[in-house]
Amino acid sequence: MGAKPQIDVEYVKAFTSELLAIPSIAGDCDAATKRIALEFEKYGIPVTETNKRALIGSWRGNDDRRHRLVAAHVDTLGATVWQIKPNGRLRLYPIGGFDWRAFEGENCTLRTLDGRDYRGTLVPDHASRHAYTASVRDEVHDMEKIELRLDVETSSQEATQALGIHCGDPVFFDPRLEITEEGYVKSRFLDDKLGIAILFGAIKALKEQSLPLAHTSHFYISNYEEIGHGTPVIPPKTVEFASIDIGVVAEGHTSDEHSVTIVARDGVMPYDRKMIRRLVHLARTEEIPFCIDTYLNYGSDASCSVKAGNDVRAVCFGPGVEATHHYERTHWDSVTASTRLLAAWLSDEMA
Ligand SMILES: [Zn+2]
Repeated sequence: MGAKPQIDVEYVKAFTSELLAIPSIAGDCDAATKRIALEFEKYGIPVTETNKRALIGSWRGNDDRRHRLVAAHVDTLGATVWQIKPNGRLRLYPIGGFDWRAFEGENCTLRTLDGRDYRGTLVPDHASRHAYTASVRDEVHDMEKIELRLDVETSSQEATQALGIHCGDPVFFDPRLEITEEGYVKSRFLDDKLGIAILFGAIKALKEQSLPLAHTSHFYISNYEEIGHGTPVIPPKTVEFASIDIGVVAEGHTSDEHSVTIVARDGVMPYDRKMIRRLVHLARTEEIPFCIDTYLNYGSDASCSVKAGNDVRAVCFGPGVEATHHYERTHWDSVTASTRLLAAWLSDEMA
């Protein structure tokens, strides 16, 4: 292998922050994909939009016979309006797998069909400790006990409807981004805005140092990952498929916030052993800190696409994230390690 790709971590940080500020959930990712399309353009990578409004950027490599696919998802957890209550408040239907307790008290934005944005907060029906002491202590907060309190005057179903609000309107929770001096990044939606920033961090490193791709590679920005749709369009010559998605830092797992996690198995399938071996070899050669982990309640675009019947070899790797699908945190060390591994893999010829 020749020159090593140098990662511009400041760029990855800045792009992560920018992406986190653009809300995007399944069914409404257009603003974010529009921004990402500009980034592909910046690096001279032609991009197409699928019928389902996902993006695929394609970059020709030394070998154009066997292609690679890299996916990161732009959609995050969120919700849609389920019911408009008689008191004018809203019941929500979650998008993606999370516990309501993780989002209680969070501010959010509701977007109507005609493009009006309303602010509000997710609160339990019985939020006030002074008024509902026993309920606050004992009640389970599920989707029938938690409501969106809009920051507008409404106390009836009719008044809320008059604001232009309908069932099915998307609700975007605030990302609450914080970057600490110690190098931690905290936000609700590191999953998977970090993955996209990592993808572009690798592209930037390779482009700016004129390092070629070993194989023609397609960069898929998927937009329904949190509800398990995978990537319905697989470019025909694809042989290897890597999802760049979060590792899970928790008790019983090997992942940490300073390494890249290589996922060996998830709830859908064991990933391709030969590809895992190659990733481990690359990490060792490049002295990239890594861990290998398995997750039970987890699926990636790569594993879901294989399950959907696509004949590709799949792997998944990415930064180790603490408190996933809650208030997430990782360290830039882990993001840098993931970006380095992706750049090394894209430069490496497949077996
Ligand atoms: Zn994810």
